[in-house]
Amino acid sequence: MSKEEKQYVKNINTTGPPGSGLFSPQQENLHDPLTLTDDFERCIQCGYCRSVCRVYDITYNEMDYAGGRNRILKSLANKEIKFDKEGIVDSIFRCMLCGNCREVCPVGIDTVAVFQKFRKDAINQGVLPKKLGILDERVAKLRNPYNEPPETRFNWTKGCGAAERALQRGKELLNSIRSGTPTKKYKVGYFVGCTSAFRNTELAIATSKILEALKIEFVFFPEEICCGSVSYRTGLEDHILDLVQHNTEMIRESGVEDVVFSCSGCFSTLSLEYPRLLKEKLGFNLYHIAEYIPKFVNDHNLKIKYGKRTKEDPVLVTYHDPCHLGRYMSIYDPPRELINMIEGVKLVEMKHIKNMSRCCGAGGGVKTLYGELATTVATNRLGESTNCVEELRKDRLKEAEETNAEWMVSSCVFCKNNLYQAANESKSALSVVDISEILEDCEFY
Ligand code: SF4
Ligand code: SF4
Repeated sequence: MSKEEKQYVKNINTTGPPGSGLFSPQQENLHDPLTLTDDFERCIQCGYCRSVCRVYDITYNEMDYAGGRNRILKSLANKEIKFDKEGIVDSIFRCMLCGNCREVCPVGIDTVAVFQKFRKDAINQGVLPKKLGILDERVAKLRNPYNEPPETRFNWTKGCGAAERALQRGKELLNSIRSGTPTKKYKVGYFVGCTSAFRNTELAIATSKILEALKIEFVFFPEEICCGSVSYRTGLEDHILDLVQHNTEMIRESGVEDVVFSCSGCFSTLSLEYPRLLKEKLGFNLYHIAEYIPKFVNDHNLKIKYGKRTKEDPVLVTYHDPCHLGRYMSIYDPPRELINMIEGVKLVEMKHIKNMSRCCGAGGGVKTLYGELATTVATNRLGESTNCVEELRKDRLKEAEETNAEWMVSSCVFCKNNLYQAANESKSALSVVDISEILEDCEFY
């Protein structure tokens, strides 16, 4: 550790012994991950993080929770073991990067930053699982992880008037800028993201309709490419710099002030990682729709009504905090305010919410790896995690069912897919929807 880092560690005030899951480190204890990359050294092996780790809860493997992984890191740093030691690759990738351990760590270790760096270091030393290699090639070649031709990115807009108009505006804006005769400025741009553009088009359609219903004249970015989130989370950070530069320059060139997202993964990646990787401010505002819409509705004194139910007979919904919107971005209240604004919808809470919400099991790029790179999962060492993902999502669904809600609502496409799958598999009566799908059926007045 450098002198500054040692001083930093010395200056840290802990929050004292936490009751597991009840206390969080003080914000001032958290720090820029770049300033203390060997943060694992501060781990005191207290084990508080073990009680909140959903992966450990299922595997009971000492290498699967934050403290255990920190022990591995120490042994690697001290050259006591090598990457090829049995179980280490599992430990590196069998983590959702959900950040629950970070919330309870009494010494404020930024576990997510430590484990992402662990992945990056491992990959740089040649530990690249085959599936990740395929993902990496796809993103490099096609600018999306789904093996789709890049020119089909906006095919989903066909037949959706709101989306077709936004794409047309985006193309005209780009042409006018490139020809040196910009005619019109737009305040709002919608960054769709690969998963909504190529797989969950219903979310992109719903969001486009909502923005138009609110009379927001928004544009798409016709040259949008993958934000790099999945590559980044899985340790391929060094491979996404060109994506980061492309998307940032593209948005800057468009001149929009506000960029809205329906995908929590894209949103947190552009908000947190882009400025860090570029080492500069982006120069535009970023909002998830779960935050942008309640703000817009309040600012314009609007009301929202869900037409299919009434105030007297509301649909009961419970809200699942996505890790990338909640623990990563600290956006807990706006989506709840939004749900509570809707006449005909009533919010009931689960036991584990906000910063102690339980991960759906799809984070850390794991779901994308298993869902889309469908080869030899069962025989791969990473295959163990497949069972883990199934258990995690069923667990989260069970908690939602206990609320007697009719719908489980989230604001992340990965959470929706994973929880939807769990509901289907277990023939649950609970419907899993994205927040945009409720708003699509609402009237703004
Ligand atoms: S980030 Fe989540 S899954 Fe990973 S070790 Fe921490 S609590 Fe467990
Ligand atoms: S990571 Fe934090 S909570 Fe977990 S064992 Fe280490 S010091 Fe304790």
